Amino acid sequence: MTRYILALDQGTTSSRAILFDREGTARASASQEFRQYYPQPGWVEHDAEEIWESQLAVAQRVCTEAAVRDGDIAAVGITNQRETVVLWDRATGKPVAHAIVWQCRRTATMCDRIRQEGFDATLAEKTGLVTDAYFSGTKIAWLLENLPGARERAERGELACGTIDAWLIWKLTGGWTHATDVSNASRTLLFNIHSLEWDREILDYFKIPYCLLPAVRPSSHLLAETRLLGSWMPIAGVAGDQQASLFGHQCWRPGSIKNTYGTGCFLLMNTGSEVPRSHSGLVATVGWQRDGATTYALEGSVFIAGAAIQWLRDELGIIKTAAETEALALSVPDTGGVYFVPAFVGLGAPHWDAYARGTIVGLTRGSNRRHLARAALESMAYQTREIIDSMAHESGIRPAVLRVDGGAARNNFLCQFQADILGIPVERPATTESTALGVAYLAGLATGFWKDEAELAAQMRVKRRFEPALSPSRREELYAGWKRAVECARRWAR
Ligand code: ADP
Repeated sequence: MTRYILALDQGTTSSRAILFDREGTARASASQEFRQYYPQPGWVEHDAEEIWESQLAVAQRVCTEAAVRDGDIAAVGITNQRETVVLWDRATGKPVAHAIVWQCRRTATMCDRIRQEGFDATLAEKTGLVTDAYFSGTKIAWLLENLPGARERAERGELACGTIDAWLIWKLTGGWTHATDVSNASRTLLFNIHSLEWDREILDYFKIPYCLLPAVRPSSHLLAETRLLGSWMPIAGVAGDQQASLFGHQCWRPGSIKNTYGTGCFLLMNTGSEVPRSHSGLVATVGWQRDGATTYALEGSVFIAGAAIQWLRDELGIIKTAAETEALALSVPDTGGVYFVPAFVGLGAPHWDAYARGTIVGLTRGSNRRHLARAALESMAYQTREIIDSMAHESGIRPAVLRVDGGAARNNFLCQFQADILGIPVERPATTESTALGVAYLAGLATGFWKDEAELAAQMRVKRRFEPALSPSRREELYAGWKRAVECARRWAR
């Protein structure tokens, strides 16, 4: 009888592998960092070969660590940094250039041009995304335009392209399978989220040949088989990291929502089987596809969340560790009227003000680092509320609970304040590996390792639940103060 699902979690700075048992418990894990390349200001690249080698190495390491034998692994799942693109040679399986990473801004002027031509409205309607350098489409167009001979070779069918999941599937199958899943496809700016196909009109606009792109498959499905880790194993679950996390948090019903508190925040809300509309700068995306049904999600992000804590530590030097902010925040009854809007890089949804800048308001002679630390933590909660309010407005659904993960979600003060300022409970699961667990679930459900969602729901362990304790009037009073502080931060750099 099979014992494990092997989850491969290919992130922006490291490749990880985790073996999950039938109870959904991580039994072995390994991770390996790889190099980041910054060839010019604003440009970010990875070496796809290094990604592959590190991913294979950690997969082999966990198998050795857990003394995995033939037939122990029921299936492999792949979750990955999204939007990053790899272009490779079909004959040799070698990348023809460095991968262009999601953070890379090299196509920002191309995006300006698209907006001038008015094609951004078509892109928004068809793909659910905003026209931004972040997404894959302009990165692929850039490679075809700028690598000598690339367009001709692509048109002759000699090259293949894809997001990191497609690259890993290609390598795991020795070039046998060129495929991606719908959730990854929905981040490319080339994929029609209504018809669930690569969009011909968009491909023509970007002059991207159809034959360059991978086949699009469900997220929980027998996509391919690999023999590279010993015996034959099915690759049966694939999803972008944030969608995998949403699935791993068991946000399976419309209105269920999760937030990952890292450097920034990533919020995703399950909106069910209908493509959500978004007018306030949230993006509509495919959550996952399984059993013939497609689940959509609304996504919003906070640019600066945990990074504000790093700023207190590294630039102001008023704390030594991120963790000590919890005790500092709890040592005062409130911020004494101080608000900290960490708009270091402007403000995202729902404001979209590139000219906003970081602002601290309400300082008095008695304000001290305790108040500042507390205000920095509170800023994560306020920014999260702004996005959840927008999501509720767009979808017409009010979430009943918020599930959380990420480095800063370890902070109990933050979780409690988040519950207070939202007026709904915040739940922190026992596992901190929601992303890897999510794709393990997808792979395990496709192969019958787990019977159904009910079996998985019975395994879910909430480590801690934070109930809202603030009166509604106090909550709204505090939030009104935040909104006034945001007004002070806006339009500053203009
Ligand atoms: P990422 O994946 O974006 O690198 P992580 O999930 O590892 O981020 O979280 C790291 C971020 O969380 C950092 O910005 C750090 O300042 C913040 N952080 C970590 N621990 C805490 C804590 N106990 N309280 C508040 N913030 C924290």
